[in-house]
Amino acid sequence: MEQKTINKKCVCPFCGGKMHLNKAFCSTHCKETYFEDMKIILSPRFVKHAHRKYCTKATLEQHLIEFATYHKFNPGVAIEKFYREAKNRYNLVFTWRK
Ligand SMILES: [Zn+2]
Repeated sequence: MEQKTINKKCVCPFCGGKMHLNKAFCSTHCKETYFEDMKIILSPRFVKHAHRKYCTKATLEQHLIEFATYHKFNPGVAIEKFYREAKNRYNLVFTWRK
């Protein structure tokens, strides 16, 4: 149990890259993005609804930017998190209409 916690510290919690033991993140970018990412809450309903409703990348991302701006999130991080959660948590695939 103890050993696992120690091993985990060698990997950046954001990008999964290897790093020095005495650091919490591999870079300032990872540190900032990680905390920004943690703040962003995307409910299953929000993700599924957006996936169903927006059929072009541009309209979906516009919606995400408005959502992020409203909640004072970083839009870039919010968009990244949206795609990641859609894929990893809900198995959603985006097929854009031309
Ligand atoms: Zn990193």
